[in-house]
Amino acid sequence: MRDLSIIEGGAMLVEDGCITNIGPARRVENLREARSADEIDASGRVVMPGFVDSHTHLVHGPARLADYEARIEGRTYSEIAASGGGILSTMRAVRSATARRLEANARLDLARMAEHGATTAEAKSGYGLDEPSELKLLKIAAALDGQPIEVVSTFLGAHALPPEFTSADTFIDHLISVVLPVVAKRRLARFADVYCDDGAFTVLQAHRYLLAAHRLGLLPRLHGAQHRDLGVTRLAIEVSAVSVDHLEAINPCDIRPLAQSDVMATLLPGSVFHLGLTRYAPARALIDAGAAVALATDYNPGTSPTLNMQMVLSLACAQMHMLPAEAVVAATINGACALGLNSRLGSLEAGKQADFIVLDVADYRELPYCFGVNHVVKTFKRGMPVAARKELFSL
Ligand SMILES: [Zn+2]
Repeated sequence: MRDLSIIEGGAMLVEDGCITNIGPARRVENLREARSADEIDASGRVVMPGFVDSHTHLVHGPARLADYEARIEGRTYSEIAASGGGILSTMRAVRSATARRLEANARLDLARMAEHGATTAEAKSGYGLDEPSELKLLKIAAALDGQPIEVVSTFLGAHALPPEFTSADTFIDHLISVVLPVVAKRRLARFADVYCDDGAFTVLQAHRYLLAAHRLGLLPRLHGAQHRDLGVTRLAIEVSAVSVDHLEAINPCDIRPLAQSDVMATLLPGSVFHLGLTRYAPARALIDAGAAVALATDYNPGTSPTLNMQMVLSLACAQMHMLPAEAVVAATINGACALGLNSRLGSLEAGKQADFIVLDVADYRELPYCFGVNHVVKTFKRGMPVAARKELFSL
């Protein structure tokens, strides 16, 4: 994860949205195919793969500003929920909002993601918590794919227990027998996700749900060990999950087995920061043990209202002791691995999709170092510009 294979004075040839050649500018510029190409001059700047934000709750209701203030004043999560806030307030907002309104908001967010350098984003359902609202969220995510960046859908039916159900087991039964088959039949999601933690679902419930999803062709991924490790890492390994996400509270004994598995550890420092907590995931121990680590925003209105991957890199370096190179790898190629898309996305190599960003820095380490500002001047998806800061860079 420390090897970025940087090409100083490099050039890249793009044709039909794919990278056809990459290497020293002297060589690439002299290729016969390069002579008729349109040239983009990025002299003195860093060009790197676009961010693959592999964990977001893209389509959601309004900001939870009252929750934010209440938390700053010291109110607990259960007090906030009892006064009408928390995840169920987002659920109520999502259920009552029209698809058109939700889609318009998510479209603006995708444009802002592109401005901040993301070229692919995962989008989870999980704020509807009943069949019509979950399908509404998944259909919106599908409609937004390519508008302007790629959107990969995850069904997070088992996000929280909705008020219509008093038993989590009965709710999981309902998801397995009623909702999952519809999601699979209509091909509305590539992945199934479940929140396995205190106050959410148990390992047994998560196991049952993920096995049922897998039988229907949905690949498993997991939220867990955010507050307490119920055994989520072992479960992720057992069901061959693509990724296990959060891990702030991971049992240290599970780090080695995770490192020896193919499961990606996706870390979400934005939520730790926003909640004012101090326990970040043990990125250093995970990487040193040989685990593959990805970084994502966890963009959502309750715990991580940022869609800026650059801020996530800064947090990863300053709070989780990741080196800038490791953070770049975690936010690009490892994010693509966490979505099973690494053969096409996540790095700049011949044969891969031309998803790249131009940064207003001369050294990639400035990206996490100079935090809280947007360094992206232009974002390209399949070789085409999809976002640009015109005042800085006119191409
Ligand atoms: Zn999440």
